[in-house]
Amino acid sequence: MEKKIYLRRGKDESLRRFHPWVFSGAIQRSEGELNEGDIVKVFTNEGDFIAVGHWQIGSIAVRVLSFEDEPINDAFWADKIQQAYHARLAMGVAGNPVNNTYRLVHGEGDNLPGLVIDVYGETAVMQAHSVGMHVNREDVAKALKTVLGDGLKNIFYKSETTLPFKAALGQENGFLLGDATDNVAVENGLKFHIDWLKGQKTGFFVDQRDNRSLLEHYSKGKNVLNMFCYTGGFSVYAMRGEAKLVHSVDSSAKAVDLVNANIELNFPGDQRHEAFAADAFKFLDEMGDNYNLIILDPPAFAKHKDALRHALKGYTKINQKAFEKIQPGGILFTFSCSQAVNKDDFRRAVFTAAAIAKRRVRILHQLHQPADHPINIYHPEGEYLKGLVLYVE
Ligand code: SAH
Repeated sequence: MEKKIYLRRGKDESLRRFHPWVFSGAIQRSEGELNEGDIVKVFTNEGDFIAVGHWQIGSIAVRVLSFEDEPINDAFWADKIQQAYHARLAMGVAGNPVNNTYRLVHGEGDNLPGLVIDVYGETAVMQAHSVGMHVNREDVAKALKTVLGDGLKNIFYKSETTLPFKAALGQENGFLLGDATDNVAVENGLKFHIDWLKGQKTGFFVDQRDNRSLLEHYSKGKNVLNMFCYTGGFSVYAMRGEAKLVHSVDSSAKAVDLVNANIELNFPGDQRHEAFAADAFKFLDEMGDNYNLIILDPPAFAKHKDALRHALKGYTKINQKAFEKIQPGGILFTFSCSQAVNKDDFRRAVFTAAAIAKRRVRILHQLHQPADHPINIYHPEGEYLKGLVLYVE
């Protein structure tokens, strides 16, 4: 039996503007026994079809898969993955001989709420952020095989930490196809070990690709400090950009091993690089003042809206420390990946830091997430990565 949801009067307005979520408070009643992850059809109070999507317990009750009354079947999934792949070809991140690392599916940005797929060469790493995508994981894997064909040898499913634990789905990480041991991916001609089994997110932060490229062009002859380095993406680009020295810092010892391995992979025996396992705040306090290119790419300080004030203080604090120590004429690349912190909030936090440090600062670039992390125009919440490149007099 078809499962149906009827909205309260007037609660169809955001759906009419193609916003892909139905909040629980908008629902008046349902028909059929609803289980988490079920496909449900959504109707207005007047009984008109308006959307079909995945149902889940929580404040976002339905994540919309389509605004047309169509079956969610193999053809649907294949079409959606195909559309996403075509877009990546158009962006030049797929089908590119020097780049095989890209985000193929970015949730709402690709009209597939709750689904993230990163491609690393012959391996796709898939994450479900909704119960519905977890339930449909094998269907998505099948569509991936159809669209990517022989170019795809492995699919690793990694949702242990991204699904609501209360759903008790018995989710675990594992291969849905293949069992890759070779895990070196190529980004803009640079090689990276990707630990999709144990690494953060899908194993790599694909979203800084363009910003790393920009950094490369600022690196020549510079003393570079890469704070919150993780796999050392920015460090490897700085090395290729002919930096004089590159220091990478992360509080995780595993990250320090990763960055060292990635430097060795691209620049074996190169003495310009050194990595430190240290807390960023402590390192910034104790370091000298001989850096003239500093990258600050911290983890999301605000995971939720209510943590906003605290997060802004955190951004001000680390940026202030960087402003105090950076050499005159230095360049600062500073980022926030907190969705809850908007562009203006972030800019104000950095502005405050500059003022406290009493430095004269120019904004050279305003950075954001790359094309393969697209923002659905009807879902502005999809914008999360912000960055500033600053010239510090
Ligand atoms: N810049 C990286 C991504 C950074 S992710 C890239 O381009 O891939 C954030 C990193 O910050 C994580 O690796 C985490 O271990 C590290 N981290 C978190 N808190 C920290 C702290 N207080 N000091 C130093 N590193 C920290």
